[in-house]
Amino acid sequence: MSNSCQKCYLCDSEEIVGTCAKCHRAYCMQDASKTDPANYCDDCLRDVVIEERIISRTDRDYDLWSEELTLTRSTSKLIQFRGIDWMFACEEICKLSTEQLKPRLEYHKAIVSLLQSELTARSVKKTHEVHNIDGHRATVSKSVRHKASGLNPDQKKMKTMFEQAIKMGLSMEQFFDLIKGQEKVQ
Ligand SMILES: [Zn+2]
Ligand SMILES: [Zn+2]
Repeated sequence: MSNSCQKCYLCDSEEIVGTCAKCHRAYCMQDASKTDPANYCDDCLRDVVIEERIISRTDRDYDLWSEELTLTRSTSKLIQFRGIDWMFACEEICKLSTEQLKPRLEYHKAIVSLLQSELTARSVKKTHEVHNIDGHRATVSKSVRHKASGLNPDQKKMKTMFEQAIKMGLSMEQFFDLIKGQEKVQ
């Protein structure tokens, strides 16, 4: 992507990383959009509003044989985007050819994967520091079972986070404290 003939239109740097999809001007790494550095300069992807809402529901399952009532609480996150620059970015996608769409999709999938790994690693590290864990391995109760299949994406994410937390030496209680802490922040 680098082109030595061009200069960043914002700071005159010759370390060009891309040409903005909106203003069509060359930009450097420092002046790339923080949200989508591969496609936009910092000026052209500012008006993107991200709204997050947590939706929770409780499912009741009554077992006639054992006369036991099991309540299962599940939460899901609803994320919506708004803003002029977001609308522009959406329109741009429609203009891409199929050949352009495929590599861009793979690129963004890889970015998503990296972002999730980084967030998980930071959460685990933070909990590790808070609890001052000295390397003891946590024991996992046998009553906790994970289904290998049939998990929805949120459950899979939770399972991966849980496995990483166990590897870091967290107990189940510390892991669930961490999750509860994250829910409060949201
Ligand atoms: Zn620059
Ligand atoms: Zn731009």
